Amino acid sequence: MAQVPPTATVEGVSIDTRHWIDGTRVATSTPNTSSTPNTSSTPPTFTDHSPIDGTPLAPIARGGPGEARAAVVAARTAFPGWAATPPVERARLLHAVADGVDARAEDLAAVETADNGALLRSHRRGVMPRVAHNFRYFADRLLALGHEDFDTRGHTNHVSWDPAGPAVLITPWNAPLMLASWKVAPALAAGCTVVLKPAEWAPLTASLLADITHEAGLPPGVFNLVQGYGEEAGAPLVADPDVRRVSFTGSVPTARRVAGAAAANLVPCSFELGGKSPLVVLADADLDLAADLAVEQYDNAGQVCLAATRILVEEPVRDAFLGRFLDRVAKLAQGDPRDEATDVGPNIHPRHVERVDGFVRRAVEAGAKVVTGGGRNTALGGNHYLPTLLTDVAQDSEIVQEEVFGPVLTLQTFPEGDDDEAVRLANGTRFGLAATLAAGDRDRAARIGARLVAGTVWVNCFFVRDLSAPFGGARSSGIGREGGDWSFDFYCDLKNTVTAPKGWEAHHE
Ligand code: NAD
Repeated sequence: MAQVPPTATVEGVSIDTRHWIDGTRVATSTPNTSSTPNTSSTPPTFTDHSPIDGTPLAPIARGGPGEARAAVVAARTAFPGWAATPPVERARLLHAVADGVDARAEDLAAVETADNGALLRSHRRGVMPRVAHNFRYFADRLLALGHEDFDTRGHTNHVSWDPAGPAVLITPWNAPLMLASWKVAPALAAGCTVVLKPAEWAPLTASLLADITHEAGLPPGVFNLVQGYGEEAGAPLVADPDVRRVSFTGSVPTARRVAGAAAANLVPCSFELGGKSPLVVLADADLDLAADLAVEQYDNAGQVCLAATRILVEEPVRDAFLGRFLDRVAKLAQGDPRDEATDVGPNIHPRHVERVDGFVRRAVEAGAKVVTGGGRNTALGGNHYLPTLLTDVAQDSEIVQEEVFGPVLTLQTFPEGDDDEAVRLANGTRFGLAATLAAGDRDRAARIGARLVAGTVWVNCFFVRDLSAPFGGARSSGIGREGGDWSFDFYCDLKNTVTAPKGWEAHHE
């Protein structure tokens, strides 16, 4: 009996949910070790559900070591050709991918919202244009890369950016295509070939990206996609000895496993991990702006790595700030993310909601007060969790120290004028991804900002991200920086070629 390939129609968009390896759609050939024995003619799959209402969206190819290896071999085989492709041509192809993203932006937005529950209006207006921009930006940046030449006693030093080789890119579910393109675009621009493994809770737009790269004319094996669970499909990819770079965005515990596997092959990793970032509200801040910034932290139902989930307010303005904040929370519309009027959609998965709620229940048991929210939105049901604010939380408590990754904020205060205490609280977790300051006096903000441990500090703004800026986290929030030339630095092996002048003989040294 012929095998039935996994495909689906989601929001009217037809999606082939098999792997994409060496320019071909591939179903999983054999069951994975942890799968139930596959005695039927149907290739192993898992079911992807919508966080909006729990409906099954699609069967997804459930990859394992066989698919991982095949994808790396395809990437390794395609690498010399892609690395030797002139930058102008690589850039042209990346612009064609960006054109493909633009042309399918509506489909991509609709499918992404069905798959991960983030707001359709954000996907349409912000995210998908940004995905296309990622490809255009790194295409253009490639053409502007400086190739330094300098002289050493008549010898020429020529510094070149040599692509490192096949790169494995592992992404999370909270911003699937955005984060995939943030890795795929610079890796391909640098001349690496790639294997992308998207998160199993939101794998659909990666499948559409495979179509787009194909239609754009990328040669077979340059972009490969393996679907599946982390332990089954991700683990063999990051352990493969033919891989030269691993770029991972996800949680700290998974990063430890990835780092261990990559270390065995001495493969450099870029890690973009979790956060527990502060929003420091100084007494002279515009409190309306501060409250707007605080409420923004509920975006994507709080599932944002950069979210400033710890609000630290200077004591004299605590009540004035809190009043403004609660006014805004009361106006937040929670509901279906496809509805234009919705501000806060569902969380990704029932298991994740359970985890978020566990943090809140344990915090309350430990003495935290619920100022707003504090549980599931029972009126809406499903994966909807109320935007929550907790006070009376100790700095060393779990709710202040651990990333919840849901719509849950804490509020603490520091004494008037006590910058040391503000800095102590702000820096007082093992994370260091970002920090936001709401301040009137920019000099004071600069003094405090200089003391914060964070990859990005925002003053009177949030989430402003230029692709030319370095992006990453300190401490447990990550290793390495991407963005601008930092991305090329990661995906390349820099090489210095020293050439003697004509007629030079070594013994003249
Ligand atoms: P996760 O760590 O559970 O999974 C991330 C990816 O790793 C998934 O694709 C998963 O399948 C894969 N994976 C799991 N086990 C693996 C293994 N052993 N080997 C290889 N791959 C494996 O994270 P998540 O729940 O999908 O995402 C949420 C986390 O991501 C949060 O901690 C969040 O802060 C973080 N995040 C960070 C950034 C950033 O830029 N710093 C951005 C977005 C999300």
